[in-house]
Amino acid sequence: MDPKASIERLAEGNRRFIAGQRTPVDLVRRRQATASGQRPWAAIVACADARVAPEIVFDTTLGDLFVVRTGGNVVDELVLGSLRFGVETLGAPAIVVLGHYGCGAVQATCAGDTPEHLACVCDEVLPSAEAARARGGTAEVEVCDEAVRLHAEAMAGRIRDDAFLGTAVPVVWGVYDVATGEVRLHDTAGIDAG
Ligand SMILES: [Zn+2]
Repeated sequence: MDPKASIERLAEGNRRFIAGQRTPVDLVRRRQATASGQRPWAAIVACADARVAPEIVFDTTLGDLFVVRTGGNVVDELVLGSLRFGVETLGAPAIVVLGHYGCGAVQATCAGDTPEHLACVCDEVLPSAEAARARGGTAEVEVCDEAVRLHAEAMAGRIRDDAFLGTAVPVVWGVYDVATGEVRLHDTAGIDAG
């Protein structure tokens, strides 16, 4: 599958999820069909938040998505290494960084009350939280929502900066709305043109 088809398939799956039209799947057959190998058609970096399960919000099943999840969808060396495997070895044709509104890691960072034991996550979100604050949103929720977007974009940039990944596949970022179920994807223009 090419990157354009990959992103379109994700968008179509999300539209089904929003509408409550989940594709019926025989998981036993699917498990048997994928036992001998995997060929994921997209790689996703998402937050560990229990409401942000990529397989569900994109209406996919076993073997479809190569998913890496961390608190606050932070991209570090371990995530980059995992993505290299998903792209180079398994052939995932595109990467999506999926932030989400109502992200606890972003909220804690924006509020400036990061507990010591969460510093390793929140420190990574801090530049986006500060940038969102500097843009002068009036309400706290506006600042947080902007920080969610900036942080997802920044993590996508971190992947593009990787010597291998940056040249191997397009990297898209998106934000998931935990209330409506909608994933809004960004930076897809290059894929359309290519
Ligand atoms: Zn989160």
